[in-house]
Amino acid sequence: MFVSKALSINGKNHLEIGGCDCVELVNNFGTPLYVLDENLIRENCRLYKNAMDKYYDGNGIVLYASKALSTMAICKIVDQEGLGLDVVSGGELYTALKAGVPMDKIYFHGNNKTYEELEFAISKDIRRIVVDNREELGRINEIAGKQGKVVNISFRIKPGIDAHTHDFVQTGQIDSKFGVALENGEAYEIISEASKMSNVKVVGVHCHIGSQIFDLEPFKLAAKVMLEFIAKVKNEINIEIEELNLGGGFGIKYTMDDDPIEYDHYIESVSNVVKSICKEKGLKLPFIVMEPGRSIVAPAGITLYKVGAVKNIKNVRTYVSVDGGMTDNPRYALYQSKYEAVIANRADAPRVQTVTIAGKCCESGDLLAKDIKMPEIQAGDILAMLATGAYNYSMSSNYNRIPRPPVVLVKDGKARVIVKREDYDDIIRNDVIPEDL
Ligand SMILES: *Cc1c(COP(=O)(O)O)cnc(C)c1O
Repeated sequence: MFVSKALSINGKNHLEIGGCDCVELVNNFGTPLYVLDENLIRENCRLYKNAMDKYYDGNGIVLYASKALSTMAICKIVDQEGLGLDVVSGGELYTALKAGVPMDKIYFHGNNKTYEELEFAISKDIRRIVVDNREELGRINEIAGKQGKVVNISFRIKPGIDAHTHDFVQTGQIDSKFGVALENGEAYEIISEASKMSNVKVVGVHCHIGSQIFDLEPFKLAAKVMLEFIAKVKNEINIEIEELNLGGGFGIKYTMDDDPIEYDHYIESVSNVVKSICKEKGLKLPFIVMEPGRSIVAPAGITLYKVGAVKNIKNVRTYVSVDGGMTDNPRYALYQSKYEAVIANRADAPRVQTVTIAGKCCESGDLLAKDIKMPEIQAGDILAMLATGAYNYSMSSNYNRIPRPPVVLVKDGKARVIVKREDYDDIIRNDVIPEDL
C-alpha cells in the first residue's frame, strides 16, 4: 500500500519504519527528521552485488553514487556490503576516507575537479579518476608526474542517448556539461592524446545517461554504443579498454504510478548485451562498473514533519504548512518532483481532499508536493514524506538560516543518530564580525 516496502502500519494506526513507530521517533528526536531503514539500504546493495555476481560472474563492481546521500555511516554500510563508492568532490572523498572506505574502491567523477581535489585524490592513490575534459587530463598528468605516479583513468563519454527523463537530469546528449562526445570525435581524440602521456594509464570509458530512468532500452543501447567505441579504439589506435562503466540512473517508485524495473533485471539484460556484442566483435569481456545512487537509498528514507497550519482558500487551494521545506528537500523546487505523503499518526485515514504541502521558507516556490490526495489534516499532525532517502539531506541548505534536521538510522525497532541536528550555533559558526567593524 506504500511506495516503499520499508513502511507499514502498526496496531496504533501509526506509520512504522524499521520496527520504529514514527510518532515515537518524533517524540524522541523532534521534527523535521530524516529517517532511514538500514535493512532496506543493505538489501538494495546486495541486490545489485548479487546480480553482478550471478549474471556477469562477478567480473565487475557496483559503486554506490554517494552524491545521493553522503554521510560517514552510509559510506561504512555500503563498504560493509561489498560495494565501491563513487564521489564527485573532495568533500565526498573526505567523507568516504574518514569512514574507512579503502581508496582502491573509490572512483572520482565530476566535470570540473579542482587542482586541489585532484592532488588530494592522487596523493591517496584513488582507484580511478573519471576524466571529463582535456584540461583536466593535462592537470592529472602533471600532478601525477610531480608525485611520481601513474594514475589509472577512464573517460566520461556522452554516448548521445536520450533517456526520456526530465531535461534537468538528462546528461547523455551532446548538449551537456559532462564529458566528451562520441559523435564529433572528441572522445576518440582525448583517448589518443592520453595514450601518449607518461603519468596516466587509460583503463576505461564511462557513460551516465540520466536519472530516474524506467526503460531498459537506453541502458542496452548505451552499452552497445560504448562497446562499438571500444572496438574502434582497439582497431584504430590499438588501445585495449578494459573497463566499461555504465553509470547509474535506475528509477525508483516515488508514487504509486511509478513502475520501476527490478534492478537485477537491468544487470541481467545489460550483461547479456555486453556478452553478445563482445562475442560478435571479438572483444575481451570488459570489467563492468555500475553506479546506482538513488535506487539504493531513496526508498529507504522518509522525512517526518509537524503540520503547523492548514490554510483553506475557498475555491482555490488548501495549503498545509510543515516545519521544513526546500531547505531539507529542494527537489520539488528544482524539478517539480512528485512525492507521496502519509499522516503518520493516522496512517490508514481515507484520502478525502486535495492539498498542497508547503514548506516554511520565504519563497512561494517552497512546496513539497502540489495537489495531492490526503486525509483530513490538522495542526499538530505528523506528516511523512515518502522515498526521501536520496538527494534530500545531500541537497539540503541553511536557506533562511534554518538548521538542518538530523538523520536517524532505524533497524529492528532501534533508532540511532547518524547525523546530528544542527543548532543556531552551527548556523553562525563561520560568521565573523571583523574587529574594526
Ligand atoms: C548521479 C550519478 C550517478 C547516480 O545516479 P542515480 O540516478 O542516483 O542512480 C551515477 N554516476 C554518475 C556519474 C552520476 O553523475
